[in-house]
Amino acid sequence: MTTAEENGCHDDDHFGVAVVGGGIVGLALVTGLLHRGVRVKLYEKTSAFRPIGAGIGFTPNTQQALQLLNPGAFAAQQKVTTANGDPKNPNDWLLYLDGYSSDVEELIFKLHAGYRGFEGCVRADFLDEMLKLIPPEIIQFNKSIVDIVDPGDGAKVQMHFKDGSTAQADVVVGCDGIKSRVRKLILGESHPAAEPSYNHQYALRDVVPMDQAIEILGDFKARNRHMHLGPGGHVVTVPIAHGKMINVVALIEDPSDWPDPTQLTRKGDGQKAIEAYKDFGAPVRNLIKAMIERNPTPDLWGIFDSVDNPTPTFAKGRVCIAGDAAHATSPHHGAGAGMGIEDDLVLSTLLANVALFSKLNRAAAVGAALNAYSHVRKERSQWVAESSRVIGQVLEWRYPETMRDWEKCQAELTWRSHRIWHWDQQAMLQEAQSAFQKLLGSVE
Ligand SMILES: Cc1cc2nc3c(=O)[nH]c(=O)nc-3n(C[C@H](O)[C@H](O)[C@H](O)COP(=O)(O)OP(=O)(O)OC[C@H]3O[C@@H](n4cnc5c(N)ncnc54)[C@H](O)[C@@H]3O)c2cc1C
Repeated sequence: MTTAEENGCHDDDHFGVAVVGGGIVGLALVTGLLHRGVRVKLYEKTSAFRPIGAGIGFTPNTQQALQLLNPGAFAAQQKVTTANGDPKNPNDWLLYLDGYSSDVEELIFKLHAGYRGFEGCVRADFLDEMLKLIPPEIIQFNKSIVDIVDPGDGAKVQMHFKDGSTAQADVVVGCDGIKSRVRKLILGESHPAAEPSYNHQYALRDVVPMDQAIEILGDFKARNRHMHLGPGGHVVTVPIAHGKMINVVALIEDPSDWPDPTQLTRKGDGQKAIEAYKDFGAPVRNLIKAMIERNPTPDLWGIFDSVDNPTPTFAKGRVCIAGDAAHATSPHHGAGAGMGIEDDLVLSTLLANVALFSKLNRAAAVGAALNAYSHVRKERSQWVAESSRVIGQVLEWRYPETMRDWEKCQAELTWRSHRIWHWDQQAMLQEAQSAFQKLLGSVE
């Protein structure tokens, strides 16, 4: 006979958290809870972890949040991160080029990110390092959540999976991404915020070996993060894999509707991508051509976000959402995963407090913790998604306030980026703790 623990259920007496979804945000949350001694189980829909996209960069606030979440997770990021330029003397500037007007790609403005403030890595490498912090027995694959029932009498919350199995926990955190099932369960299927909206923009994402990148961009541009700007599109190139390759994200405006909104990617026609960048300078044109030569029918990634219909709450009862499930953003700040890691920091801190409560008071404490979490995280994460839309326009020279005025573009980028990067994580945690205490007081 198997025990409740072996079935993936938390037993009745011990406080246990269920994390649904093993993307960056779900895995990071698990490491944060384990670091605080909180029992946790992870339920992932797929049969193995599959990183989405090749590269990712972590902004300064994300690195601070990771360090506070679990120093091991921060060490994992530091191990795989790739310095811009020479690692002994890294280049900490984000460099913005006019990728359109000439083949020379003139530097039009730049933004300082602080010491090793914003570097790239291979997503799979980061996830592999994070997985070293997580005992495999707490992970269950092929568990696609379909329903969550909170009996409301202090008994554990019941999760129902597509394969007919069930599990229970004191709290369920949906880290199930932009198309979150848990968000729908919290808000209702027909709520306007149940589905994200298409930004009329898609991305080509690929990696290019460093030798080829140097041939196309030249040594300096290949080895340092650059944004190649122009009207109707822009390209981001970032060294990853300790300088063995670069990650390329090429964004293309799209007046059409996204054909199948249930899918985030679709097969594209490479010639259309070449066409979209045909008036750009040679470096961008050649980069796109190299990507399409290797893969003539690339995956196109629809850019969706939650800006048109922001989620009114991240929590209901003993169920909540975090990461893209709560506040999906376009990628122009490079801060989407970072917002999820800040969510994780607040959640793991508050849930570690809840774990100290007696079984009798646990349900009320969970409710207070999740409300406090939603209260503290909603405004900032939703602002980032809104601001990212603005930055997308700035980078494509179509934001009415900035257009092709580089000083204004730089000023806009600077204040918005600084608002994200220079964030007092400790003050956020204090605010969360006092909201938690206040809400607890009101239920006692
Ligand atoms: C082009 C591009 C570039 C980006 N660059 C950056 C960057 O440089 N820096 C940055 O911080 N952010 C970046 N982002 C944003 C970042 O990728 C996302 O914010 C982040 O990956 C979201 O992580 P997540 O764990 O919330 O969701 P996901 O990564 O989507 O993970 C969700 C997980 O839940 C699982 N799941 C789904 N449904 C269910 C279910 N019903 N039951 C159980 N499990 C389920 C999925 O299989 C998946 O494993 C970028 C985004 C894009 C599109």
